[in-house]
Amino acid sequence: MTTSDFSQRLIEALGPDTVFTAPDDIEPWLTDWRGLYKGQAQAVVRPRTTEEVAKCLALCQQAGVPVVPRGGNTGLCGGATPDGAPANVVLSLDRMNKVRSVDTIANTLVAEAGCILGNLRRVAEEANRMLPLSLAAEDSCQIGGNVSTNAGGVNVVRYGMTRELVLGIEAVLPTGEIFHGLRTLRKDNTGYDLKQLLIGAEGTLGVITAVALRLFPRNSVRSVVLAAVQSPQQALELAELVNDQCGPRLQAYEFFTGDCVDLVLAHAQGVQEPFAQRYPGYVLMELADTADEDALNALLENVMGAALERELCLDAAVSTSMAQLQALWKLREEISEAQRADGPHLKHDISLPIEQIPAFMESAEKRVREAYPDIRPFIFGHFGDGNLHYNLSRPAGAPREWAQQQGDAVTDIVLDEVNRYGGSISAEHGIGQLKRDHFLHSKDPLELRLMRDIKRLFDPAGILNPGKLL
Ligand SMILES: Cc1cc2nc3c(=O)[nH]c(=O)nc-3n(C[C@H](O)[C@H](O)[C@H](O)COP(=O)(O)OP(=O)(O)OC[C@H]3O[C@@H](n4cnc5c(N)ncnc54)[C@H](O)[C@@H]3O)c2cc1C
Repeated sequence: MTTSDFSQRLIEALGPDTVFTAPDDIEPWLTDWRGLYKGQAQAVVRPRTTEEVAKCLALCQQAGVPVVPRGGNTGLCGGATPDGAPANVVLSLDRMNKVRSVDTIANTLVAEAGCILGNLRRVAEEANRMLPLSLAAEDSCQIGGNVSTNAGGVNVVRYGMTRELVLGIEAVLPTGEIFHGLRTLRKDNTGYDLKQLLIGAEGTLGVITAVALRLFPRNSVRSVVLAAVQSPQQALELAELVNDQCGPRLQAYEFFTGDCVDLVLAHAQGVQEPFAQRYPGYVLMELADTADEDALNALLENVMGAALERELCLDAAVSTSMAQLQALWKLREEISEAQRADGPHLKHDISLPIEQIPAFMESAEKRVREAYPDIRPFIFGHFGDGNLHYNLSRPAGAPREWAQQQGDAVTDIVLDEVNRYGGSISAEHGIGQLKRDHFLHSKDPLELRLMRDIKRLFDPAGILNPGKLL
């Protein structure tokens, strides 16, 4: 069957307002967020119901047509971008955007996969609850994409990764069968927990159509501290003190270098110099609670007083209003955009045993600089859960193509160090196309074999997101 015959079959089954085949209609769906990858497709399918997703997948499986599930396209590994095969079908969940229920007794929210994360967070807030998953792309990414990448974000220290927020999943398997796992039970020990396989599968095992999520009491009181630190080691010691004294009130513990602050001040609007002088590193921590602002502020004062006394930080600024809190967060949130404005660069989303971060940072920088003395590291991340964005920009004066030309060699050094320190080459962004080779080379052979067996079980014809992950 030719691709146009197959597209025609899809249109007959789903309708011309669901299946798009004109080149101009398809074009916007072929590139990833960073513009690193561009693929091809014969059609873009935008279903409104789970049954339509099932029809689409059943037809694709019969004809052996590859399907690329697509959420908000904010993924940073090219996972939602089709490869170069003209037969690809992009399956977008953007029209499946209904909230099915919010339950403030069970503390659950059930939503379709195409709901934008930021909207779900607002829905929870209107019900006086909190959906803690929060990331800089939250007003574009979709909950189906978040679950498929097991997204992390800034609140992992307290609430865990997306996996820990998911109670149930509805999904369509490549065969067109519907997986009815949309349960909201907190306790359910009835055999293998199959939904866990779909979480973080990057669209290679099934298409998620709806999810049931845990909600939490809303933190009405929030406070942010920006602490200047001498080194990652000092950030680590400060983390221990804050953990001891603040317990579950610690919601975020972020780290960035002084170079990141320079970059943000150079490229972002409305950002202010945090202290009278530049420091080597900064920790941004947020404490939150459901009530009692005075108690939270008193706690903060005590902790930061102790931190300064024990020389666990060099300086500290505490937010005293929502505007200040947002201004301090902006320093951290603008780093990615500022680096993008600075030009093409190399991203490494890695995690390490937290106590190894200082040694890793020293050793990785030494090795990278031996090869590229003038490289510009911009290192930041979710320090509290061991996740660093180890990003490297081209040496001053080097051509824009530098990152593309030297990328593999630099990344080999960084990921070699990650392995040496017992870390992971992908903390929260996933594998996609970007890290597939490194993943296949570094993963334990037994784990890889089991993953391939699971893939065959769910997707015997291999139609779902080929060339991604495995
Ligand atoms: C500025 C910025 C900041 C970011 N910060 C963070 C961060 O702090 N933490 C973090 O974890 N990530 C972060 N990301 C990465 C990205 O936002 C997450 O990976 C997000 O979870 C992707 O969701 P999405 O809807 O955009 O998915 P997409 O990019 O569309 O897809 C991602 C993968 O999931 C698959 N997929 C999408 N929807 C479905 C579905 N319904 N069923 C099955 N498979 C599906 C796709 O095939 C693809 O493999 C950031 C990205 C940007 C641009």
